[in-house]
Amino acid sequence: MAEHRHPDLHTDMLIDGAPVPAAGRAVRATVDPATGGVIAEVPEATAADVDAAVAAAARAFGSDAWGGLLPAARARLLLRLADLLEADAEAFAALETTDQGQPLAVSAGFSVPNAVEHLRYYAGWVTKITGVTAPLSVPDVDYRTRREPLGVCALITPWNFPLMILVWKLAPALAAGNTVVVKPAEQTPLTTLRLAALVREAGFPDGVVNVVTGGPEVGRALVAHPDVAKVSFTGSTEVGREIAAGAGRDLKRVSLELGGKAPSIITADADIDAAVAGNLMGGLLNSGQVCAAYTRFYVDAARHDEFAEKLAAGAASMKLGHGLDGATRLGPLVSAEQRDRAEEYVRIGREEGAHLHDRAPLEDGDGYFVRPAVFSGVTDGMRIAREEIFGPVLSVLPYDDPDELAARANDSRYGLAAVIWSRDIGTANRLAARVRAGTVWINMPPMLDAAAAWGGMKDSGLGREMGWSAIEAFTQVKSIWTSLA
Ligand code: NAD
Repeated sequence: MAEHRHPDLHTDMLIDGAPVPAAGRAVRATVDPATGGVIAEVPEATAADVDAAVAAAARAFGSDAWGGLLPAARARLLLRLADLLEADAEAFAALETTDQGQPLAVSAGFSVPNAVEHLRYYAGWVTKITGVTAPLSVPDVDYRTRREPLGVCALITPWNFPLMILVWKLAPALAAGNTVVVKPAEQTPLTTLRLAALVREAGFPDGVVNVVTGGPEVGRALVAHPDVAKVSFTGSTEVGREIAAGAGRDLKRVSLELGGKAPSIITADADIDAAVAGNLMGGLLNSGQVCAAYTRFYVDAARHDEFAEKLAAGAASMKLGHGLDGATRLGPLVSAEQRDRAEEYVRIGREEGAHLHDRAPLEDGDGYFVRPAVFSGVTDGMRIAREEIFGPVLSVLPYDDPDELAARANDSRYGLAAVIWSRDIGTANRLAARVRAGTVWINMPPMLDAAAAWGGMKDSGLGREMGWSAIEAFTQVKSIWTSLA
């Protein structure tokens, strides 16, 4: 396996403002999924590391250096971090591509700029987190509310968009005045560790941001820690359920962004070429490793074959390769495990009797590549139409009765996102109201914006990120009564 070492790698954890190197500790390798080569080894945090990180965050929360900081100064720290990240954007994008696999067009064009924008957006909120006054029916009192931070927040992130999803949590948590302990996914820790170095450079007081690396055990220790006030988690529904159960027992606050199986509805009057282009983008962004990926396509029976053939041809024409190669449209999956899982679903789809459109052959290599697989003639009960695959496997299902569309789209345990393609804006909006999903896009590929609430219904999660919703999720309301008598 080729060694692919990135220049200027940061592999130290961050606890109480000090770098914690791997030297003398258990380590875990992180690999370039396009080659299988080891990029770096990062520390496997121990229970003592988790305790130290939470203790540092708790001290920082109660300190004048952070708790006493004026809002405008807290906003400036976030803005400084945004500037540092922007100045280092190229290196961050290359590192994300090397560790995660996403093409540079995704890392440089989306992940890193989105993270920068999130930091700036939440810097703006810092000075606008207001309470209310209310006209109580009690004589001689003044009443007002304050919105206060929660305390130490554990931020646990997945491997598909490591930097961006971290910042979706970090920016509002800090804007609201919390302190944090971050645990990145074990497959993709490197951009998080590089950001930790920038946190120090930006001048955040010691202990405000701590980063511990390692596997599920480290996450479990954080979730169970009695001094953690809130867990914000993005990842699988199964782990989310386990976290919510623990948080329920301990009465911790919890936000969960979990899996999805987004339906894409293509009505008879839709612009098929626009729908094909938008669905290729929505279905194959980051090789389908997107919780909101468009994965089950309900197409009017009259246009089913045309749509499926065009979708399959478009998918087959996308260039697979190392994400650092500018011509690459599809990178590898993040790990051998995810590659095998996606190929297993291709096998399942064939066995279930769906029609698999031609896939270009895969060249030999060590990377975890999967050619997109487009199935047509899929029926509602097939596993490929029901289960989250998190890879480039797309299912096209015909429909005859438009009145059944909402019910078929909603026949899923998930409810993260949905998309509707129709030239009739009334039809599209009526459907949008009936689809049970946290986000519905109409005639467009998936988009995100710091100002647009993001999160799931049903098994796709609890709570919303982005916009004011994230500030609410990282604060609590205090009522203050004053006697005027
Ligand atoms: P995962 O849920 O296993 O892991 C996510 C994070 O949680 C990692 O940092 C992991 O180390 C940690 N973790 C694992 N077990 C834990 C536990 N018991 N307690 C605390 N932390 C724990 O997810 P995965 O296997 O890395 O990803 C696969 C699935 O995650 C996908 O199929 C998809 O459903 C989901 N996913 C969703 C999103 C999203 O944005 N909604 C993003 C990525 C992945």
